[in-house]
Amino acid sequence: MSDLTGKVALVTGGSRGIGAATAKRLAADGATVALSYHSSPDAARAVVDAIAEAGGTAQAYRADAASPEANAALVRQVVEDHGGLDILVNNAGVYKTGPVHEFSDEDYDANLDVSLRGSFATIREAAKHLRDDGRIVNLGSVVANTGMPGNGIYGAAKAGVAILAKSVAKELGGRGITVNTVHPGPIDTDMNPADPGENPYAATLAGMTALGRYGTADEIASAIAFLASDDAAYVTGAELTVDGGMTA
Ligand code: NAD
Repeated sequence: MSDLTGKVALVTGGSRGIGAATAKRLAADGATVALSYHSSPDAARAVVDAIAEAGGTAQAYRADAASPEANAALVRQVVEDHGGLDILVNNAGVYKTGPVHEFSDEDYDANLDVSLRGSFATIREAAKHLRDDGRIVNLGSVVANTGMPGNGIYGAAKAGVAILAKSVAKELGGRGITVNTVHPGPIDTDMNPADPGENPYAATLAGMTALGRYGTADEIASAIAFLASDDAAYVTGAELTVDGGMTA
């Protein structure tokens, strides 16, 4: 556990999966957590309630991560409500996959709009508001750095996020702000269930890891919490792969 007491954190797409686990973890570490959601107010409220029951502080905000205006308004609202911003976690993402010869412009736009444009838009606004020694952590993917059939456009969006982070790290480093990207391997969430009954690729993906299993959302939240902490003050512009050895 790290000490994030007094910090304000914003986690996009915090109503489920890795985002929900991260919101809970950052709150458990002492941060006041703002989490955004798109279409699941009940799920977002359940995360807020769970954080409150555990003794933490959280608030949910509706914001479409694909909308630059909504992202900017979200960041401004969090700053207004909580008096500042210390930690931004760009977690919202969609996973549109398929062979390149069949891939639609709509799925291309969905991948790029939520992951790359969405991360850019929150970073652009957050860069104006983040306090000194702030933290930006983005969610990438192993397929940002390695090919996988059907994952070309999703991977391109995630690679874009990681390289965006490197330049922004050099822009904001003078204020002690760090900007990093976590690349998860297969993580058991609604996006990528570990149950072979729900996901025809589950056994293959688990078998591609050195550890022979899917990771959990909590295991990604741990990596994000580290990058959000004082312990990671000298880590910036980095890509932290958390994939059970899939790409080892
Ligand atoms: P998930 O589908 O369970 O959660 C994704 C979250 O993003 C949800 O809360 C969803 O509501 C939110 N979201 C999607 N579109 C949105 C929009 N337009 N506006 C606001 N929120 C939106 O998936 P997850 O596994 O928890 O994924 C979290 C992040 O980790 C994503 O960026 C994903 O690409 C990345 N990732 C996941 C895996 C995996 O195996 N699960 C692997 C690599 C990377």
